[in-house]
Formats: sequence, structure tokens, C-alpha cells
Amino acid sequence: MPLDVIVTRTKHSNLEKVNLANPQFGSLISDHMFTCSFNNGQWGEAEVVPFENISMSPATLALHYGQTVFEGLKAFKMAEGSINIFRIEKHHERFNASLDRLCMPHVPKDLFVNALKKLVATDADWIPGDGGGSLYLRPIIFASEARFGVKISNQYRFIIFGGPVGNYFQEPLKVKVERKYNRAAKGGTGYAKCAGNYAGAFYPTRLAQDEGYDQVLWTDSKLNEYVEELGMMNAMFVIDGKLVTPPLSDSILDGITRDSLLKIARGENIETEERDISITELQAAFKEQRITEAFGAGTAAVVAPIAVIAIDGVDYHLPEYGSNNLMFRLKQRLGDIRTGAEADTYGWNYIVSAQA
Ligand SMILES: *Cc1c(COP(=O)(O)O)cnc(C)c1O
Repeated sequence: MPLDVIVTRTKHSNLEKVNLANPQFGSLISDHMFTCSFNNGQWGEAEVVPFENISMSPATLALHYGQTVFEGLKAFKMAEGSINIFRIEKHHERFNASLDRLCMPHVPKDLFVNALKKLVATDADWIPGDGGGSLYLRPIIFASEARFGVKISNQYRFIIFGGPVGNYFQEPLKVKVERKYNRAAKGGTGYAKCAGNYAGAFYPTRLAQDEGYDQVLWTDSKLNEYVEELGMMNAMFVIDGKLVTPPLSDSILDGITRDSLLKIARGENIETEERDISITELQAAFKEQRITEAFGAGTAAVVAPIAVIAIDGVDYHLPEYGSNNLMFRLKQRLGDIRTGAEADTYGWNYIVSAQA
């Protein structure tokens, strides 16, 4: 098991060509990437190299049968100049849980941690320093064996790259309750962060967009009546003043933002409930004005407020939001913990020296 990560620095940094002030999500890629291959039952040399294209056979198994798993996490610049990789351990656990489901090899914790540590230290200058910006990190593993018969791959490639992202405000979304298509089914791969879940979600999302909505609110695959997720985020609501979200299951992804917001809320003695939420309940809560907030939770935007929920052709409007809303207060506290402005009482921060 390699612990040492060999670093080869680029001679042509792109840093001076970019503007780190509020870059559009996913538009910029930093100078370096991490790479490691799995072969003959073990992980090989771990390296940070200049970001580059990869070459692969058209027979690469991932392209045909979809053994591809990813993660998404963020590194922040702390006030005193060190770097915080937020909740690295929980991301590692989830990575392995996804890999299990796709029949792919685990990534040992020291490989995951050292890879991220070296990459963020190498590209430390790419982390936006203020305004809540961060370096978004994207670990991926895919089946790299070149063979086109259906099989579980024997070879895998683990790559991590990333790019600076801003702390952008997501405009309130118009969402449509989806009762025909499902993102995930009981017994399926919904809880795994695998590429196929996204591929299958695009078409129903585009149909909703054609009707003027931004996203779909997924429902369960059996009755199409219980809320699952919002697009590719966890769905959260404030109903009767309580923070309510569907319970984790094999069709709901264990979002780290969801978990963090629930824990911060509980720490403030705000009542939280992880329970089934039916569309009928939402309808009633709208009519009785008991629902005051609805939002998506995920690493990219932290919270994505919902303005409208369409249920069976009827648009239900959430009240106007202001900075006093629970979701924005929780987002602020999460941001403060991640940058060190608030004490990290939950032990979520993984501090890396920029000289690592
Ligand atoms: C990644 C993801 C989320 C959000 O998880 P975070 O850890 O909060 O970023 C929610 N739902 C799906 C389907 C996802 O892929």
C-alpha cells in the first residue's frame, strides 16, 4: 500500500490566466490531478501530476457497463492560512459504500486522505481566499480494463481533480413533483454516488424543464407518493417550524450537507424529523400555510431554496425568503465552521498545511 504520493509540478501554471473571484461552478480546473491505478488486486503508485487528458481504449469497461463512482467535497482556506478539507472521513466512508455497491475495490483511508492532502497542498493557491469560495474536489474511480464482454472489471483508475468555485447564491427554484419517472428504486443504486444515477435522471429533468421548471422532486418508485430527493440534492422542508427530511434508505443518498445541517439544527434545539413525507401532506401543509421553507441540500450550493412546487399540475408557492430563514442561518453557520470563524465542535474539519 503506497502512502507516499509523488508530486510532479507543472511548468505551466494556468493560475494567472483565471479569475478566482466567484468562478462559475465547474468551469475552472486547477493545475494538478491525482492518479492511481488498481491492478492485480492492489493499488499502485500514487501520484500528483499536471492536469492532463487521459487516453483509453474504446473497449474500456466503464464506458459500456457503467462501473463509475465519484465523490464531491470542498477544501477551504482557513483564516490562519491552513487548508480545511471538510468532512474528509465521511466522504471516504461514502466512497467505499458506493464502491461496494458497484462491485469495485475499496480505497484505503490513508490513500484517500493522502491523495487529497497532497493535491490541495500542491494547488493551494487555487483556493479562493475569501467570500466563502472553495476548491471543489472530484474523486472518481472507473473500470479501466479494456474488454467488451460483460464482466466485473479487474482494473480501475482513481483520479482526483478539482477547481475553484464561488459561494454562489442559488436563485429559488421552481420544481415539479415527478410521479412517473424515478431516480432510484428500492434495492437499486440510489444511495451510491454512481454515474448511472445521473444519466437516468437527465431525461425526466429535461421534460420538467420543457414545462418551465428547474428541477424535479423525486418520489418513491412504488407509490410515487413519498418525497425522495430534489434533483441531485437531498430534500428538506420546514413544516410547523420543524426541519423535516425523508429518512435515509437505499434510494436516498446520504448527503453530507443534509447530515451537517441536521446536526447544526439539533445543536440549536430546533426540532428535526427524519420521516416519510407524502405529497398529500405537502399539499395540506401548503393549504394550511404550515410549510414555510423548502430547499435542496448538497455540497455545491449548500442550500438551494425552492420557490414553487408543482403538484399534479398545480403550482404551490412558498412564502418569500429572507436572511432570517432557517436554511440561510444553517448555511451561514456551516460556512463559519468550515472557514474557522466558528469553533469546529463536531470535529468536521481536516486541517492541512499548505506546505504538506
Ligand atoms: C451528492 C449527492 C447529494 C448531496 O450530497 P452532499 O454530500 O451533501 O454533497 C444528494 N443527492 C444525490 C443524488 C447526490 O448524488
